[in-house]
Amino acid sequence: MVLKIVKYPEPVLQQPGEPVTEFDGELKKFVADMFETMYASQGIGLAAPQVGVSKRITVVDLSQGKDPAQKLVLVNPEVILTEGKQYEEEGCLSFPDIREKVVRAAKVRVRAQDEDGKWFEMDGEELLARAFLHEIDHLDGILFIFRMSPLKRNLSLRKIRKMQSEGAW
Ligand SMILES: [Zn+2]
Repeated sequence: MVLKIVKYPEPVLQQPGEPVTEFDGELKKFVADMFETMYASQGIGLAAPQVGVSKRITVVDLSQGKDPAQKLVLVNPEVILTEGKQYEEEGCLSFPDIREKVVRAAKVRVRAQDEDGKWFEMDGEELLARAFLHEIDHLDGILFIFRMSPLKRNLSLRKIRKMQSEGAW
């Protein structure tokens, strides 16, 4: 089932998600719906707050559904190591048409639970590191506009206000 993606400034996007404690069929169904929703919007990552659910769950798939081996589910994820810096353009399904450069770590190690509750660690570089950091930020209520320079943030907010006034947001 394709879920509705909420847009900025929906309050759920700016509050920290609750940790997941039940690894049941309901969680698996929700994760499957998150993948379906992400693929329907051609995204590479989606966090539960983006579909209005304030829980620490995110899905990532750089292949956009083409390679099952790249389907990643991160429940209760934490960043345990970062290294270096990258400065690349980033977008967000909760900010349609907004793309700006954001500084992120070049390499990251995350620790998370899978949909069965099993803990694992995983390293990501470049785009994968960016996706992990962007999505884990969502679970802390941090949006990518707050990672932009003040100048780029103001430009983006102005663009959003203009789209809102035109009924295009
Ligand atoms: Zn996002």
